[in-house]
Amino acid sequence: MPQTPKSTQSALAAELHNSTYSPLYTLPAELLYLISSFLSPLEIMSTRATSRKFSVLLPPPKLTTPLRRQYRSLVRRSHFRALCAFERQNQLPPDILVCSACLQSHPASAFPLSEQTKPPARRQCAGSTRVFRVCAHKAVTFAALEVGGAESMRCAVPHGAVRGREAREVVSCRVGGDVVVVWECVLMRVAAGRGVWRKEVLEAVGRVGEGVCPHLRMGVDMKWEAGRGMLGKWFRGWRVGDWGLVGSCEEGGCETSFYVERKRCKDLKDGEEEMAEIVFCVERHLGPLRDAADPRWSVQTVDMHSM
Ligand SMILES: [Zn+2]
Ligand SMILES: [Zn+2]
Ligand SMILES: [Zn+2]
Repeated sequence: MPQTPKSTQSALAAELHNSTYSPLYTLPAELLYLISSFLSPLEIMSTRATSRKFSVLLPPPKLTTPLRRQYRSLVRRSHFRALCAFERQNQLPPDILVCSACLQSHPASAFPLSEQTKPPARRQCAGSTRVFRVCAHKAVTFAALEVGGAESMRCAVPHGAVRGREAREVVSCRVGGDVVVVWECVLMRVAAGRGVWRKEVLEAVGRVGEGVCPHLRMGVDMKWEAGRGMLGKWFRGWRVGDWGLVGSCEEGGCETSFYVERKRCKDLKDGEEEMAEIVFCVERHLGPLRDAADPRWSVQTVDMHSM
């Protein structure tokens, strides 16, 4: 005798359960249509999610972006309640625990020991209590980043060792689904043909004091590698677009790199002499960032209480 697949078996069991215990489920289609005309779009979506019959019978309503967000949050909360029930009934693998901050499960190692013994609805993973320091004024939690996206990374305070109109913004973007936080700072402005001392650049970088990962002290323990053909002490021949100094963090799992670049100054007023600017740029790769237990989030963040 051919075997019935497991998914069909459980669908049949659900149908039997619904038609036995749910008076709503057994109502004729015309009555269900009538009832649905009194429901809000979110209520229709929630009803459709309860059974196969309702999802076939009730056409999906048009959802605005805020409503779609609300619906996703409803689904996540109901998935979370199911996970909590699974954990209480010992139906999750032994090394998996539910996280009430991320509304999903993580490996037990993602939680501090003190959290592991808490009930699932109150337990929080370590990553959800950590913060990503964007600059000296701004720190972002995983929850804030999830809600606000790249905008939550923006800082309203002007940046740059050269203050005023030259200051640049902190920029965060997604590349192929990955979050990359790019931080730029203008170190100095020089006349178009003027060379720059290596020492000058290093001192300016040392004064910046923000924008890198938690493992690098600016200008102190940064290891500089020579950029393209820039081994000399004096960057006289440093052309626009050339990288002067490049390097990266050596901490395991941290994907932070930085470089100093000579760029043409763009925001000159009419009649002003052409200038070049020496720009310090940091790129912090955070990966796809699906949850706060991601090791790439942990390595780039600090404990909220240590600030
Ligand atoms: Zn979590
Ligand atoms: Zn700032
Ligand atoms: Zn690092």
